[in-house]
Amino acid sequence: MDESVISAQNINFNYGETHILKNLSLSINAGEIYGIIGPSGSGKTTLIKIILGLLKLNSGELNVFGQKVISKKLNRIGYMPQISALYEDLTVFQNIDFFARMYETKNRVEIIHTLLEQVKLLDHKNQVIGKLSGGQRQRVSLAIALVHNPPLLLLDEPTVGLDPKLRHELWQYFEKLSSQSTTLLISSHTMDDANHCQKIGFIYDGSIITEGSPKELCESVENKKMTLEEVFLNIVSNR
Ligand code: ADP
Ligand code: MG
Repeated sequence: MDESVISAQNINFNYGETHILKNLSLSINAGEIYGIIGPSGSGKTTLIKIILGLLKLNSGELNVFGQKVISKKLNRIGYMPQISALYEDLTVFQNIDFFARMYETKNRVEIIHTLLEQVKLLDHKNQVIGKLSGGQRQRVSLAIALVHNPPLLLLDEPTVGLDPKLRHELWQYFEKLSSQSTTLLISSHTMDDANHCQKIGFIYDGSIITEGSPKELCESVENKKMTLEEVFLNIVSNR
């Protein structure tokens, strides 16, 4: 049986005349933390929008939860956009509550408090978004992505703007979610994030150029002492 939560085979996507995703293939298993790692402009956000069903493929095959057509109701997916989409003049609590009501989340207040505790924002729950730092906003967005307890999380550059301590705590939290069988797709351009993932797909110019665990990727090159970053650069330069 195919255990993948997301599987893409040779998908192609164009913005107008520009070929953006080029025969991109990947597979993400249930409960896995999968890192889509690559430089700016390589197609990470485009791929996430395709998985959400916001953009339509030109060709290839994409299955999410074993289905070709993504359900119009996105209640099994939690999405954290790269650019924060929060209501500036509402408080932290009100922002999350807005989505909790939309999803008809039961025990809303209790769940929001638990989430605020987990993302370390309980002390800020009555502050308006406009007064928060970038890292705090990121964590409000994350709480919103989690409010309906989805089995699949799509997080677009969730660690950008976080200091090392917060980043570390966030990764601990991701690992906890994964151990509770949530599947996480996390995009990033840093190798620090890549090293935390169970599986990585290096994306470059719209294609996944290699896929595997950090250890497998480091063992895939001749020089076994290379860092993940060097492995990436090595694969890119040999193309
Ligand atoms: P990443 O998230 O890896 O930085 P993106 O998926 O945002 O990359 O972008 C991939 C490519 O698609 C880039 O070359 C970018 O300029 C282009 N692109 C992104 N959004 C649009 C758009 N709305 N219209 C045209 N081109 C776009
Ligand atoms: Mg992006």
